[in-house]
Amino acid sequence: MSANAGAAPFTYDLRQTRVVFASGALRQLPAELESLGADRAFIITTRGRSVTLSSLRDQLGDGLAGVFDEAVEHVPTSVVSKASAAYERAKANVVVAIGGGSAIGLGKALARGSGVTLAAVPTTYSGSEMTSIWGETDANGKRTGRDQRVAPRLVLYDPDVTLGLPPDVSAASGMNAMAHAVEALYALNASPVAVALAEESARLLAESLPRIVVQPDNTDARAQAFAGAHLGGRALDIAAMGLHHRLCHVLGGSFGLPHARTHAALLPYVVAFNAPSAPAAMMRLARALGATDAVLGIASLGRSLGTDVSLGELGLRDTDIARAADEATATEYPNPRSASSAEVRALLTAALQGDRSYLVNV
Ligand code: NAD
Repeated sequence: MSANAGAAPFTYDLRQTRVVFASGALRQLPAELESLGADRAFIITTRGRSVTLSSLRDQLGDGLAGVFDEAVEHVPTSVVSKASAAYERAKANVVVAIGGGSAIGLGKALARGSGVTLAAVPTTYSGSEMTSIWGETDANGKRTGRDQRVAPRLVLYDPDVTLGLPPDVSAASGMNAMAHAVEALYALNASPVAVALAEESARLLAESLPRIVVQPDNTDARAQAFAGAHLGGRALDIAAMGLHHRLCHVLGGSFGLPHARTHAALLPYVVAFNAPSAPAAMMRLARALGATDAVLGIASLGRSLGTDVSLGELGLRDTDIARAADEATATEYPNPRSASSAEVRALLTAALQGDRSYLVNV
């Protein structure tokens, strides 16, 4: 079978986002903000990221309107309220999210609520900076949606700021980006654009992540992984999310599992489930991974990165499985293979136990 996508009808939106990608690019932030017409920056980040901030404080000087460093995973609504109040007090005219998907996700929540311009300085491989996808979590679970207002107007990638990202966080975050690429490859609305972006994303990530794990300060590998994450985010932005993202949202939003590590641990199981219904995508994925088989290739990459833990180790319990499967299948979502609640239970049970036989027998 050919790995080339056919010329099926497709639709996607382009928008005005300026992307700057260079070693040392962080130094250009004040000038880039100025060209957006912004002179009072409200910075959002996660705790402990003051290392990145210290040089910026001097550069921004009076242009620094405030800092909120309490961003956490899954964007809890309580944190959004606190950040919104701090943003109002700061009288800023741009929000700058510096960090991983948690900081960027909180920045998106502020942009969605107030319409303020958002700039992003990603420091992990989440890819969120390139999507118009938002997420928020409250007592009823995690809600996600797409809204062009949350897409950053400026995205500034400086691979130097990722040199200190610990190897295990790098690996998990990189596999989160890989999951974006995988689901874009077999998305029901996949366009030739999304597929091309996704395959190159998977290739760059597969090549660079194993190098980062053994040599975290390898600047070439860091830049390559960042470029892969950028392309993965762009692919996800124009492709529908399938079973994998649905499950990760449920496991993170309703069961508190860690986002990136859950993506990384679960990905081989979902690829194995979807593989029979997505042969062209599997051929492209295998090619990107330099493997003869996509399922075994993705599992082997996870093993080499040390992300191949069981969902049990990440906090999921046997007694959670039925509720998670029901929640995941309660509403329709696009996926190449339809999955019943029983099939999702079987998949989650295998992933919870780290049962590798599922990968060849599903
Ligand atoms: P994160 O943002 O929580 O970062 C993980 C940890 O790494 C944090 O403790 C952070 O402080 C630290 N860190 C970040 N950059 C660092 C650096 N350069 N050096 C050292 N430490 C650093 O995790 P994440 O995986 O990037 O993001 C997860 C969140 O992103 C989830 O809430 C998820 O839903 C969201 N997400 C959204 C999208 C989207 O398109 N909307 C896409 C992917 C992820």
